[in-house]
Amino acid sequence: MLARLPKGTSDILPSQIDYWYYLENIIKKVLQNYGYREIRTPAFEHTELFVRGIGEATDIAQKEMFTFQDRKGRSLTLRPEGTAPVVRAYLEHNLSRENPLTKLFYIGSMFRCEKPQAGRYRQFNQFGAEAIGSPLPIIDAEIIASSLAVYRQLGLTDLKLMLNSVGCRECRPQYLKVLKDYFREKKDLLCADCKQRYEQNPLRILDCKKEQCRIVIKECPSIFDYLCTDCANHFNTLKYYLDSIGITYQINPLLVRGLDYYTKTAFEIVSQQLGAQNAVGGGGRYDYLVEELGGKPTPAVGFAAGIERIIETMVKQNIKVPVWDGIKVFVAVTGQEQIITALSIANQLREKGISSEMDFLGKSLKSQMRTANKLLVPYVLILGPEELKEEKVTIKNMADGAQEEISLDNVLPYLQKCILKNR
Ligand code: AMP
Repeated sequence: MLARLPKGTSDILPSQIDYWYYLENIIKKVLQNYGYREIRTPAFEHTELFVRGIGEATDIAQKEMFTFQDRKGRSLTLRPEGTAPVVRAYLEHNLSRENPLTKLFYIGSMFRCEKPQAGRYRQFNQFGAEAIGSPLPIIDAEIIASSLAVYRQLGLTDLKLMLNSVGCRECRPQYLKVLKDYFREKKDLLCADCKQRYEQNPLRILDCKKEQCRIVIKECPSIFDYLCTDCANHFNTLKYYLDSIGITYQINPLLVRGLDYYTKTAFEIVSQQLGAQNAVGGGGRYDYLVEELGGKPTPAVGFAAGIERIIETMVKQNIKVPVWDGIKVFVAVTGQEQIITALSIANQLREKGISSEMDFLGKSLKSQMRTANKLLVPYVLILGPEELKEEKVTIKNMADGAQEEISLDNVLPYLQKCILKNR
Protein backbone atom coordinates (compact mmCIF):
# COMPACT_ATOMS: atom_id res chain seq x y z
CA MET A 1 0.00 0.00 0.00
CA LEU A 2 2.79 2.41 0.94
CA ALA A 3 4.23 2.57 -2.56
CA ARG A 4 0.88 2.50 -4.37
CA LEU A 5 -1.25 5.26 -5.86
CA PRO A 6 -4.81 5.76 -4.63
CA LYS A 7 -7.42 4.53 -7.13
CA GLY A 8 -8.19 6.94 -9.97
CA THR A 9 -5.03 9.02 -9.60
CA SER A 10 -1.83 8.99 -11.62
CA ASP A 11 1.72 10.25 -11.57
CA ILE A 12 2.91 12.41 -14.41
CA LEU A 13 6.40 11.03 -14.95
CA PRO A 14 9.40 12.94 -16.35
CA SER A 15 9.00 10.95 -19.58
CA GLN A 16 5.49 12.46 -20.03
CA ILE A 17 6.05 15.96 -18.70
CA ASP A 18 6.93 17.56 -22.04
CA TYR A 19 3.32 17.06 -23.17
CA TRP A 20 2.13 18.97 -20.12
CA TYR A 21 4.57 21.86 -20.58
CA TYR A 22 3.63 22.12 -24.24
CA LEU A 23 -0.08 21.99 -23.54
CA GLU A 24 0.04 24.52 -20.71
CA ASN A 25 2.03 26.96 -22.84
CA ILE A 26 -0.40 26.70 -25.75
CA ILE A 27 -3.43 27.06 -23.47
CA LYS A 28 -1.98 30.24 -21.93
CA LYS A 29 -0.93 31.70 -25.25
CA VAL A 30 -4.19 31.03 -27.08
CA LEU A 31 -6.52 32.12 -24.27
CA GLN A 32 -4.50 35.27 -23.60
CA ASN A 33 -4.75 36.09 -27.30
CA TYR A 34 -8.51 35.92 -26.84
CA GLY A 35 -8.26 38.37 -23.93
CA TYR A 36 -8.64 35.90 -21.03
CA ARG A 37 -6.48 36.34 -17.91
CA GLU A 38 -5.46 33.46 -15.70
CA ILE A 39 -6.98 32.97 -12.26
CA ARG A 40 -5.82 30.39 -9.70
CA THR A 41 -8.29 29.37 -7.02
CA PRO A 42 -7.70 26.95 -4.12
CA ALA A 43 -7.97 23.19 -4.52
CA PHE A 44 -10.78 23.13 -1.94
CA GLU A 45 -13.72 25.37 -1.12
CA HIS A 46 -16.67 25.41 1.28
CA THR A 47 -18.88 22.44 0.39
CA GLU A 48 -21.91 24.72 0.12
CA LEU A 49 -20.38 26.48 -2.90
CA PHE A 50 -20.57 23.30 -4.95
CA VAL A 51 -23.91 22.10 -3.59
CA ARG A 52 -25.48 25.45 -4.47
CA GLY A 53 -23.43 26.07 -7.59
CA ILE A 54 -23.55 22.69 -9.29
CA GLY A 55 -26.98 21.73 -8.01
CA GLU A 56 -28.08 19.34 -5.29
CA ALA A 57 -29.65 16.88 -7.72
CA THR A 58 -26.54 16.36 -9.84
CA ASP A 59 -24.39 13.22 -9.79
CA ILE A 60 -21.44 15.33 -8.71
CA ALA A 61 -23.13 16.82 -5.64
CA GLN A 62 -24.85 13.58 -4.70
CA LYS A 63 -22.07 11.06 -4.91
CA GLU A 64 -18.88 12.32 -6.46
CA MET A 65 -17.54 14.96 -4.10
CA PHE A 66 -14.50 14.44 -1.91
CA THR A 67 -15.84 16.13 1.21
CA PHE A 68 -14.11 16.37 4.57
CA GLN A 69 -14.29 18.39 7.75
CA ASP A 70 -11.59 20.69 9.01
CA ARG A 71 -10.62 20.60 12.69
CA LYS A 72 -13.41 23.00 13.58
CA GLY A 73 -16.00 20.82 11.90
CA ARG A 74 -16.53 23.03 8.81
CA SER A 75 -17.35 21.07 5.68
CA LEU A 76 -14.88 21.50 2.83
CA THR A 77 -14.77 19.86 -0.61
CA LEU A 78 -11.97 19.29 -3.11
CA ARG A 79 -13.11 21.19 -6.20
CA PRO A 80 -14.91 18.90 -8.66
CA GLU A 81 -15.02 21.65 -11.31
CA GLY A 82 -13.69 25.13 -11.95
CA THR A 83 -16.65 27.38 -12.72
CA ALA A 84 -18.20 27.76 -9.25
CA PRO A 85 -14.81 28.67 -7.68
CA VAL A 86 -14.13 31.22 -10.45
CA VAL A 87 -17.53 32.81 -9.90
CA ARG A 88 -16.93 32.79 -6.13
CA ALA A 89 -13.63 34.64 -6.67
CA TYR A 90 -15.29 37.01 -9.17
CA LEU A 91 -17.80 37.98 -6.49
CA GLU A 92 -15.41 38.00 -3.55
CA HIS A 93 -12.93 40.33 -5.29
CA ASN A 94 -15.58 42.33 -7.11
CA LEU A 95 -13.79 41.70 -10.41
CA SER A 96 -16.56 43.28 -12.49
CA ARG A 97 -15.45 46.66 -11.11
CA GLU A 98 -12.52 46.67 -13.52
CA ASN A 99 -14.48 45.59 -16.56
CA PRO A 100 -18.19 44.82 -17.03
CA LEU A 101 -17.15 41.77 -19.05
CA THR A 102 -14.72 39.69 -17.00
CA LYS A 103 -12.76 37.11 -19.00
CA LEU A 104 -10.86 34.53 -16.96
CA PHE A 105 -9.16 31.21 -17.58
CA TYR A 106 -7.79 28.51 -15.30
CA ILE A 107 -5.70 25.34 -15.41
CA GLY A 108 -5.78 22.93 -12.49
CA SER A 109 -6.65 19.62 -10.88
CA MET A 110 -10.26 18.63 -10.26
CA PHE A 111 -11.46 15.83 -8.00
CA ARG A 112 -14.46 13.56 -8.49
CA CYS A 113 -15.07 10.30 -6.70
CA GLU A 114 -16.17 8.42 -9.81
CA LYS A 115 -15.67 4.80 -10.77
CA PRO A 116 -12.27 4.93 -12.46
CA GLN A 117 -12.08 3.71 -16.06
CA ALA A 118 -10.18 4.68 -19.20
CA GLY A 119 -10.53 8.47 -19.57
CA ARG A 120 -12.29 8.86 -16.21
CA TYR A 121 -10.19 9.53 -13.14
CA ARG A 122 -10.65 10.73 -9.57
CA GLN A 123 -8.04 13.44 -9.86
CA PHE A 124 -7.79 14.90 -13.34
CA ASN A 125 -6.79 18.21 -14.86
CA GLN A 126 -8.89 20.72 -16.68
CA PHE A 127 -8.40 24.04 -18.31
CA GLY A 128 -11.33 26.31 -18.87
CA ALA A 129 -12.42 29.84 -19.65
CA GLU A 130 -15.27 31.92 -18.31
CA ALA A 131 -16.72 35.15 -19.75
CA ILE A 132 -18.90 36.78 -17.11
CA GLY A 133 -21.15 39.74 -17.89
CA SER A 134 -22.59 39.48 -21.41
CA PRO A 135 -25.95 38.00 -22.43
CA LEU A 136 -25.14 38.24 -26.15
CA PRO A 137 -24.66 35.13 -28.32
CA ILE A 138 -21.50 36.67 -29.80
CA ILE A 139 -19.64 35.79 -26.61
CA ASP A 140 -20.96 32.20 -26.77
CA ALA A 141 -19.46 32.06 -30.28
CA GLU A 142 -16.18 33.42 -28.98
CA ILE A 143 -16.00 30.93 -26.12
CA ILE A 144 -16.57 28.06 -28.55
CA ALA A 145 -14.03 29.51 -31.00
CA SER A 146 -11.40 29.95 -28.29
CA SER A 147 -11.71 26.37 -27.06
CA LEU A 148 -11.47 25.07 -30.64
CA ALA A 149 -8.45 27.31 -31.21
CA VAL A 150 -6.59 25.57 -28.37
CA TYR A 151 -7.30 22.13 -29.87
CA ARG A 152 -6.31 23.35 -33.32
CA GLN A 153 -3.02 24.83 -32.06
CA LEU A 154 -2.29 21.51 -30.39
CA GLY A 155 -2.77 19.79 -33.74
CA LEU A 156 -5.87 17.79 -32.78
CA THR A 157 -8.02 16.67 -35.67
CA ASP A 158 -11.18 14.56 -35.95
CA LEU A 159 -13.06 16.67 -33.42
CA LYS A 160 -16.79 17.24 -33.55
CA LEU A 161 -18.65 20.16 -31.98
CA MET A 162 -22.08 19.15 -30.65
CA LEU A 163 -24.51 21.99 -29.97
CA ASN A 164 -27.78 22.35 -28.11
CA SER A 165 -29.89 24.79 -26.14
CA VAL A 166 -31.23 23.76 -22.76
CA GLY A 167 -33.62 26.70 -22.47
CA CYS A 168 -34.10 29.03 -19.54
CA ARG A 169 -36.35 29.59 -16.52
CA GLU A 170 -39.16 30.62 -18.85
CA CYS A 171 -39.27 27.68 -21.20
CA ARG A 172 -37.50 24.80 -19.48
CA PRO A 173 -40.27 24.02 -16.94
CA GLN A 174 -42.71 23.44 -19.78
CA TYR A 175 -40.25 21.12 -21.53
CA LEU A 176 -39.53 19.26 -18.29
CA LYS A 177 -43.25 18.69 -17.86
CA VAL A 178 -43.58 17.26 -21.36
CA LEU A 179 -40.51 15.14 -20.78
CA LYS A 180 -41.90 13.76 -17.54
CA ASP A 181 -45.21 12.99 -19.26
CA TYR A 182 -43.28 11.11 -21.93
CA PHE A 183 -41.12 9.11 -19.50
CA ARG A 184 -43.95 8.41 -17.02
CA GLU A 185 -45.29 5.38 -18.88
CA LYS A 186 -41.84 4.15 -19.79
CA LYS A 187 -40.29 4.49 -16.35
CA ASP A 188 -40.02 0.74 -15.89
CA LEU A 189 -37.78 0.50 -18.95
CA LEU A 190 -35.24 2.96 -17.50
CA CYS A 191 -32.15 2.08 -15.44
CA ALA A 192 -32.14 2.59 -11.66
CA ASP A 193 -30.22 5.90 -11.94
CA CYS A 194 -32.67 7.26 -14.48
CA LYS A 195 -35.65 6.27 -12.33
CA GLN A 196 -34.16 8.56 -9.71
CA ARG A 197 -33.37 11.24 -12.28
CA TYR A 198 -37.01 11.10 -13.35
CA GLU A 199 -37.97 12.42 -9.94
CA GLN A 200 -35.16 14.88 -9.39
CA ASN A 201 -33.82 16.05 -12.73
CA PRO A 202 -35.49 14.47 -15.79
CA LEU A 203 -33.30 16.43 -18.21
CA ARG A 204 -30.33 14.31 -17.10
CA ILE A 205 -32.06 11.15 -18.39
CA LEU A 206 -31.23 12.39 -21.90
CA ASP A 207 -27.55 12.04 -21.04
CA CYS A 208 -27.72 8.39 -19.94
CA LYS A 209 -25.42 6.11 -21.93
CA LYS A 210 -27.12 2.81 -20.99
CA GLU A 211 -28.54 0.96 -23.97
CA GLN A 212 -31.93 0.29 -22.29
CA CYS A 213 -32.36 4.03 -21.72
CA ARG A 214 -31.03 5.09 -25.14
CA ILE A 215 -33.89 3.14 -26.77
CA VAL A 216 -36.49 5.09 -24.78
CA ILE A 217 -34.69 8.43 -25.13
CA LYS A 218 -34.49 8.16 -28.93
CA GLU A 219 -38.19 8.92 -29.35
CA CYS A 220 -38.55 11.62 -26.69
CA PRO A 221 -39.87 15.14 -27.42
CA SER A 222 -37.27 17.67 -28.61
CA ILE A 223 -36.44 20.78 -26.62
CA PHE A 224 -36.48 22.78 -29.87
CA ASP A 225 -40.26 22.55 -29.92
CA TYR A 226 -40.42 24.26 -26.53
CA LEU A 227 -37.78 27.01 -26.51
CA CYS A 228 -39.12 30.50 -25.79
CA THR A 229 -38.57 33.23 -28.38
CA ASP A 230 -35.56 34.62 -26.51
CA CYS A 231 -33.82 31.22 -26.29
CA ALA A 232 -34.70 30.33 -29.89
CA ASN A 233 -33.36 33.70 -31.14
CA HIS A 234 -30.22 33.28 -29.05
CA PHE A 235 -29.62 29.83 -30.51
CA ASN A 236 -30.28 30.90 -34.11
CA THR A 237 -27.99 33.91 -33.79
CA LEU A 238 -25.24 31.76 -32.31
CA LYS A 239 -25.55 29.35 -35.23
CA TYR A 240 -25.36 32.28 -37.63
CA TYR A 241 -22.15 33.53 -35.97
CA LEU A 242 -20.58 30.07 -35.99
CA ASP A 243 -21.50 29.63 -39.67
CA SER A 244 -20.00 33.04 -40.42
CA ILE A 245 -16.64 32.18 -38.89
CA GLY A 246 -16.53 28.75 -40.47
CA ILE A 247 -17.14 26.63 -37.37
CA THR A 248 -19.06 23.49 -38.18
CA TYR A 249 -21.30 21.82 -35.62
CA GLN A 250 -23.84 19.10 -35.20
CA ILE A 251 -27.07 19.92 -33.41
CA ASN A 252 -27.86 17.38 -30.74
CA PRO A 253 -31.12 18.00 -28.85
CA LEU A 254 -30.13 15.25 -26.39
CA LEU A 255 -26.99 17.05 -25.26
CA VAL A 256 -27.36 18.13 -21.67
CA ARG A 257 -24.50 18.87 -19.33
CA GLY A 258 -23.84 17.25 -15.99
CA LEU A 259 -24.27 20.45 -14.03
CA ASP A 260 -27.54 22.17 -13.20
CA TYR A 261 -26.50 25.72 -13.82
CA TYR A 262 -26.53 25.69 -17.62
CA THR A 263 -29.00 27.82 -19.56
CA LYS A 264 -29.48 28.31 -23.30
CA THR A 265 -26.25 27.22 -25.06
CA ALA A 266 -24.78 23.83 -24.19
CA PHE A 267 -21.94 22.33 -26.22
CA GLU A 268 -19.52 19.47 -26.17
CA ILE A 269 -16.45 18.70 -28.20
CA VAL A 270 -15.89 15.02 -28.85
CA SER A 271 -12.85 13.27 -30.22
CA GLN A 272 -13.44 10.49 -32.72
CA GLN A 273 -10.17 8.94 -31.59
CA LEU A 274 -11.34 8.15 -28.04
CA GLY A 275 -13.57 5.34 -26.79
CA ALA A 276 -16.59 5.61 -24.50
CA GLN A 277 -15.29 8.70 -22.69
CA ASN A 278 -14.91 10.70 -25.87
CA ALA A 279 -15.68 14.26 -24.69
CA VAL A 280 -12.52 16.35 -24.65
CA GLY A 281 -14.38 19.44 -23.50
CA GLY A 282 -17.70 21.11 -23.08
CA GLY A 283 -19.41 24.16 -21.78
CA GLY A 284 -22.28 26.52 -22.13
CA ARG A 285 -24.13 29.46 -20.77
CA TYR A 286 -24.92 29.76 -17.05
CA ASP A 287 -26.98 32.90 -16.63
CA TYR A 288 -28.19 32.15 -13.08
CA LEU A 289 -25.03 30.98 -11.32
CA VAL A 290 -23.71 34.40 -10.24
CA GLU A 291 -27.09 35.19 -8.73
CA GLU A 292 -27.30 31.73 -7.12
CA LEU A 293 -23.99 32.43 -5.40
CA GLY A 294 -25.16 35.75 -4.00
CA GLY A 295 -24.30 38.24 -6.76
CA LYS A 296 -26.64 40.35 -8.82
CA PRO A 297 -28.13 38.69 -11.91
CA THR A 298 -25.21 38.40 -14.34
CA PRO A 299 -25.16 36.36 -17.55
CA ALA A 300 -22.09 34.22 -18.23
CA VAL A 301 -20.71 31.53 -20.50
CA GLY A 302 -17.71 29.21 -20.30
CA PHE A 303 -16.09 25.91 -21.15
CA ALA A 304 -13.90 23.29 -19.51
CA ALA A 305 -11.64 20.74 -21.16
CA GLY A 306 -9.99 17.57 -19.88
CA ILE A 307 -6.21 17.65 -20.23
CA GLU A 308 -5.62 13.88 -19.79
CA ARG A 309 -8.06 13.10 -22.59
CA ILE A 310 -6.45 15.70 -24.84
CA ILE A 311 -3.00 14.19 -24.24
CA GLU A 312 -4.42 10.73 -24.91
CA THR A 313 -5.76 12.01 -28.23
CA MET A 314 -2.41 13.64 -29.06
CA VAL A 315 -0.61 10.36 -28.39
CA LYS A 316 -3.13 8.44 -30.54
CA GLN A 317 -2.61 10.99 -33.32
CA ASN A 318 1.14 10.68 -32.93
CA ILE A 319 1.54 14.42 -32.38
CA LYS A 320 5.13 15.23 -31.47
CA VAL A 321 5.87 17.93 -28.92
CA PRO A 322 9.11 19.79 -28.30
CA VAL A 323 11.13 17.83 -25.78
CA TRP A 324 13.66 18.96 -23.18
CA ASP A 325 16.98 19.21 -24.92
CA GLY A 326 18.86 17.57 -22.07
CA ILE A 327 22.13 18.11 -20.26
CA LYS A 328 24.85 19.87 -22.25
CA VAL A 329 27.94 19.34 -20.14
CA PHE A 330 29.17 16.61 -17.82
CA VAL A 331 31.97 17.66 -15.46
CA ALA A 332 34.03 14.52 -14.77
CA VAL A 333 36.78 14.15 -12.19
CA THR A 334 39.57 11.60 -11.84
CA GLY A 335 39.51 11.77 -8.02
CA GLN A 336 37.67 13.30 -5.10
CA GLU A 337 40.34 16.07 -4.77
CA GLN A 338 38.86 17.78 -7.84
CA ILE A 339 35.25 17.60 -6.69
CA ILE A 340 35.01 21.16 -5.31
CA THR A 341 36.40 22.66 -8.51
CA ALA A 342 34.01 20.48 -10.51
CA LEU A 343 31.04 21.63 -8.45
CA SER A 344 32.04 25.24 -8.83
CA ILE A 345 32.45 24.90 -12.64
CA ALA A 346 29.09 23.13 -12.95
CA ASN A 347 27.39 25.86 -10.92
CA GLN A 348 28.94 28.63 -13.01
CA LEU A 349 27.75 26.92 -16.19
CA ARG A 350 24.22 26.54 -14.77
CA GLU A 351 24.17 30.23 -13.80
CA LYS A 352 24.83 31.05 -17.43
CA GLY A 353 22.03 28.78 -18.61
CA ILE A 354 24.18 25.80 -19.63
CA SER A 355 22.70 22.64 -18.09
CA SER A 356 25.40 20.60 -16.40
CA GLU A 357 25.76 17.38 -14.48
CA MET A 358 28.53 15.70 -12.56
CA ASP A 359 29.15 12.57 -10.54
CA PHE A 360 27.48 12.32 -7.14
CA LEU A 361 28.19 8.64 -6.53
CA GLY A 362 31.99 8.55 -6.23
CA LYS A 363 32.33 6.63 -9.51
CA SER A 364 35.51 6.01 -11.51
CA LEU A 365 36.32 8.20 -14.52
CA LYS A 366 35.41 5.34 -16.86
CA SER A 367 32.03 4.96 -15.24
CA GLN A 368 31.48 8.75 -15.32
CA MET A 369 32.16 8.68 -19.07
CA ARG A 370 29.53 5.96 -19.40
CA THR A 371 27.03 8.13 -17.53
CA ALA A 372 27.89 11.10 -19.76
CA ASN A 373 27.29 8.90 -22.80
CA LYS A 374 23.94 7.80 -21.49
CA LEU A 375 22.94 11.43 -20.90
CA LEU A 376 23.91 12.16 -24.53
CA VAL A 377 25.84 15.26 -23.48
CA PRO A 378 27.73 16.96 -26.30
CA TYR A 379 30.68 17.95 -24.06
CA VAL A 380 32.54 16.43 -21.13
CA LEU A 381 34.98 18.43 -19.02
CA ILE A 382 37.67 16.27 -17.44
CA LEU A 383 39.44 17.46 -14.32
CA GLY A 384 42.51 15.55 -13.12
CA PRO A 385 45.30 16.45 -10.65
CA GLU A 386 47.50 17.84 -13.50
CA GLU A 387 44.71 19.98 -14.85
CA LEU A 388 43.90 21.27 -11.38
CA LYS A 389 47.53 22.22 -10.72
CA GLU A 390 47.80 24.10 -14.02
CA GLU A 391 44.29 25.59 -13.70
CA LYS A 392 43.25 23.87 -16.88
CA VAL A 393 40.58 21.45 -17.98
CA THR A 394 40.28 18.95 -20.81
CA ILE A 395 37.22 19.37 -23.01
CA LYS A 396 36.02 16.33 -24.89
CA ASN A 397 33.68 16.81 -27.82
CA MET A 398 31.52 13.69 -27.63
CA ALA A 399 30.41 13.92 -31.26
CA ASP A 400 33.85 13.40 -32.77
CA GLY A 401 35.93 12.37 -29.70
CA ALA A 402 38.31 15.37 -30.15
CA GLN A 403 39.93 16.60 -26.94
CA GLU A 404 41.62 19.87 -26.16
CA GLU A 405 43.03 21.55 -23.10
CA ILE A 406 41.80 24.94 -22.14
CA SER A 407 42.44 27.28 -19.20
CA LEU A 408 39.77 27.38 -16.48
CA ASP A 409 39.10 31.07 -17.26
CA ASN A 410 38.21 30.23 -20.82
CA VAL A 411 35.84 27.32 -20.15
CA LEU A 412 32.71 29.41 -19.93
CA PRO A 413 33.15 31.56 -23.05
CA TYR A 414 34.35 28.50 -24.99
CA LEU A 415 31.31 26.39 -24.09
CA GLN A 416 28.91 29.28 -24.55
CA LYS A 417 30.23 29.71 -28.09
CA CYS A 418 30.03 25.99 -28.93
CA ILE A 419 26.61 25.45 -27.43
CA LEU A 420 25.01 28.61 -28.78
CA LYS A 421 26.39 27.73 -32.22
CA ASN A 422 24.54 24.41 -32.09
CA ARG A 423 21.20 25.80 -30.89
P1 AMP B 1 -17.34 18.56 -17.18
O1 AMP B 1 -16.85 19.52 -16.15
O2 AMP B 1 -17.90 17.30 -16.61
O3 AMP B 1 -18.15 19.17 -18.23
O4 AMP B 1 -16.01 18.08 -17.89
C1 AMP B 1 -15.30 18.80 -18.85
C2 AMP B 1 -14.24 17.90 -19.45
O5 AMP B 1 -13.38 17.43 -18.40
C3 AMP B 1 -14.79 16.63 -20.06
O6 AMP B 1 -15.16 16.86 -21.39
C4 AMP B 1 -13.63 15.69 -19.95
O7 AMP B 1 -12.72 15.91 -21.00
C5 AMP B 1 -12.97 16.09 -18.66
N1 AMP B 1 -13.39 15.23 -17.53
C6 AMP B 1 -14.54 15.29 -16.80
N2 AMP B 1 -14.56 14.36 -15.84
C7 AMP B 1 -13.40 13.68 -15.94
C8 AMP B 1 -12.81 12.59 -15.24
N3 AMP B 1 -13.41 12.03 -14.20
N4 AMP B 1 -11.59 12.14 -15.64
C9 AMP B 1 -10.95 12.71 -16.68
N5 AMP B 1 -11.45 13.75 -17.38
C10 AMP B 1 -12.64 14.23 -17.04
